[in-house]
This record gives sequence, structure tokens and C-alpha cells, in this order.
Amino acid sequence: MYDAVVVGGGPAGSYAAYKLAGMGHDVIVLDKKEKLGEPVCCTGIISKECVDSFAIDNSVILNQVSNIKLFSSTGNLIRFSRQNTQACIVDRGALDKMLAERAQNEGAKYVLNSPVSDMKIENNGVKVKINRQEEELIVEARVVVVAAGFGARLISGLGLGKINDFIMGAQATVETVGIDETEVYFSQERAPGFFAWLVPISPATALVGLALHSSTSFYMRKLLASLLEEGKIASDKIKPCYRAIPLSPLSRTYGQRLVVVGDSAGQVKPTTGGGVYFGLLCADIAASNLHRALESGDLSAKSLSGYEREWKKLIGRELKICYYARKFYERLSDKQIDRIFNIIKSRDLEEVLFKDNDLPFDWHGEIILKLLGYKMLSGAIKAMKIPFRIRRD
Ligand SMILES: Cc1cc2nc3c(=O)[nH]c(=O)nc-3n(C[C@H](O)[C@H](O)[C@H](O)COP(=O)(O)OP(=O)(O)OC[C@H]3O[C@@H](n4cnc5c(N)ncnc54)[C@H](O)[C@@H]3O)c2cc1C
Repeated sequence: MYDAVVVGGGPAGSYAAYKLAGMGHDVIVLDKKEKLGEPVCCTGIISKECVDSFAIDNSVILNQVSNIKLFSSTGNLIRFSRQNTQACIVDRGALDKMLAERAQNEGAKYVLNSPVSDMKIENNGVKVKINRQEEELIVEARVVVVAAGFGARLISGLGLGKINDFIMGAQATVETVGIDETEVYFSQERAPGFFAWLVPISPATALVGLALHSSTSFYMRKLLASLLEEGKIASDKIKPCYRAIPLSPLSRTYGQRLVVVGDSAGQVKPTTGGGVYFGLLCADIAASNLHRALESGDLSAKSLSGYEREWKKLIGRELKICYYARKFYERLSDKQIDRIFNIIKSRDLEEVLFKDNDLPFDWHGEIILKLLGYKMLSGAIKAMKIPFRIRRD
């Protein structure tokens, strides 16, 4: 029997496996893919803070970001510019492989082509069922880490509740014409309720994407066509990838002999849909709690509840503020977005907010609260009378 079985060899699963194996536990990682990191549907933007905290290898970094252009629907532009690298664009496939390699070097065993179809949590262990074509295999372990991405069916029926809100992301790799800075488009016409992006990864290539609650492929085709018309990309005849992104956390992320991490747990920034950094942070917390529980032999839900307490202490408030901000943004019209752009520019808030070297790339809650603290902006938002109500589940 293994100490831990990790379902999913994405960033969150591999990092949990790396930490657990490094602490001397016998770990197996199961992934349904035939090759880790293939295919992936992710822009791979992670902060400098994430790169440094998790010692991400230079070899997987495609590009560095120090300037970002934010556009409203009328073309109103805020340019966020710093001297130093603020974020890195990683090759997501290579990142997954690198993290898996690290876990393997610590002794974790990877078994690919292993779609897990069922999980039984019993008093003396966990039984995880792999369904491979004609073959059915059972892996037994003392604990299970579910890191299978958003919408993992495995956890339904375990009393963990569900993730109540999500969007569908779309992305394509395109040839670009003269684009050397990341561009983000805040336009309800272009990407209703969210935003669209154009992220250069090499002098002639970029990732174009958006995320939406519905009609994603329609808006993605429209986005590609309009970027082509603007002369920013060379062709719009590209097949995008699509993948769902959770916007709110799972009601409960632990149980007897079980923890849930990463997208499966909804540990994603609701402002941007970025989940790599928070997933890694939470996987780290999960591994420390599992280590303590495995050492003590107490694998009860109560013993593992510390995992949820700790990750919520670290990112819970951030997720809440950003979720409210997201819901508020969804109700803005293009005219109102444009007005907010104008206020930010006219009052030099741009300078204060975006050029202050201490502003963190990942932690948006403080920026949001800081923005709302500006009378001019909060007054204008009040005057807009935006119908806004949060459903508290
Ligand atoms: C278009 C788009 C752009 C994005 N851009 C960014 C970005 O720039 N920065 C950022 O931080 N985040 C971004 N994200 C989000 C990011 O991709 C996720 O937050 C991240 O991949 C979550 O990591 P994870 O390890 O939790 O899950 P995943 O990366 O989804 O890994 C889950 C793994 O589990 C495996 N698996 C699933 N089910 C099973 C099963 N039943 N049995 C066995 N294996 C299984 C899968 O094959 C996969 O390898 C983006 C998402 C989208 C859709």
C-alpha cells in the first residue's frame, strides 16, 4: 500500500507529490494523459513571486513581462510599466514535465495513461480505480490527493459540495505582427464579463485568449477576426483549445484520508482565472498537513481540516474580495469601463497603482480595496448605480 496516491499530474498534483516524496513518503501519481503536459490549454503567465518561491527553472520560461497594455473598448489605454520583470510566461507543458521530474527525483512513481474512474475511502485505506480500455486496476494508499483539475467527477458524492461558478477559457497560438507587449482587452463586446488577451511568447508568436460564461467559441472567433483586422495577428484560421476555469472554491476541500488541491478545489484567482500559483501554494500546505497526519496515523477528516484552515488563511480573503470584484465588473457596461479608465488616468491613479514597485502581481485584493478607497472613483461608481448583488452560497 502506498502512503499517498495523487490523482492528476498537473502543477498542483506534482508539487504535492514532490513534497510528500521528499518527506520520505511512498507516493504514486496517476494521470490519464499519455504524456504529461500534452495537451495543455493555459497561457502560462505566473508572477515573479511564483517563479522565485517555487524555483521555476529558467529553461521553461518563454518570455518575461515588465509592461502590460490595458485597453478599454474605445481603445483607451493604460500602460502598466516597470523596470523589473513582473511576471514570466512559462511553457505550460514544459512546466508540468519539470515539476513531475522533480517529484520523480524525490522518489514519486508516475503511472500515465491511468484515468481514475472511482475512489473508495474506507476506514483502513483508500482504493482508487483505474479504467484502462479492457483493464481495471486498483491502487491502494493511506491517503488520496485529488488534483485532477476542474470538474473532477471523482469527488462528487463525497459530501464536499461543489464549485458554484466557473467560466470557459479559450486560447490559440497565433503569428503576430509587431506585438512585443502583453495586451489585455476589457470590453464587454469582446469578452462579456471577463477579458481577452494577446500575450507574446516569441518575436513572432503570441497566445490569444479569452474566458466567458457562455458562447466562448463565438466570441473567440470574433476576437481572432478583429485582431486580424487590426493587423495584430497574421491569420485567424486557427483552432483554439477550450477549458473550464473555476471562479469559486469547493465548499469543503478535505475529508477522511482525502485532500483536494488546485483547480479541483477552486483555488484560482477570480480576477484573472490564474490558478498555477495558488494551486502550488495550496499543494504545499496540503503536503505539510498530510505529512503530519501520516506520521501521527490520524487520517481523520478532523485531522486533515487544518489544510483548509491554512489555505483559507493564506488566500481565502483574497479569493472573496476578487470574486466580489469580478461579479461587479460583470455588470459594467463598456461606457462605464471606459469611464473608470478615464478616472484612473486623469487622477494619476495609474501612477500610484501600477507604477509602485511594491504592487504584487498575484494579490489583487489590496489593489481593489485601494482603488475603492479613492473618493473620486468610488463616488463615480456609486453614481453609475450598477445593479449589484452577490449570492452568498
Ligand atoms: C485558456 C486558459 C488560460 C490560462 N492561463 C493561465 C495563466 O496564464 N496563469 C495561470 O496561473 N493559470 C492559467 N490558467 C489556469 C491554469 O491552467 C490552471 O489553474 C492550472 O492548470 C491548474 O492546475 P492543476 O494542477 O490544479 O490542474 P490541471 O493542470 O488541470 O491538471 C490536472 C491533471 O489531472 C489529470 N486528470 C484529470 N482527471 C483525471 C482522472 N480522472 N484520472 C487521472 N488523471 C486525471 C489531467 O490529465 C491533468 O494532467 C488558464 C486556464 C485556461 C483555460
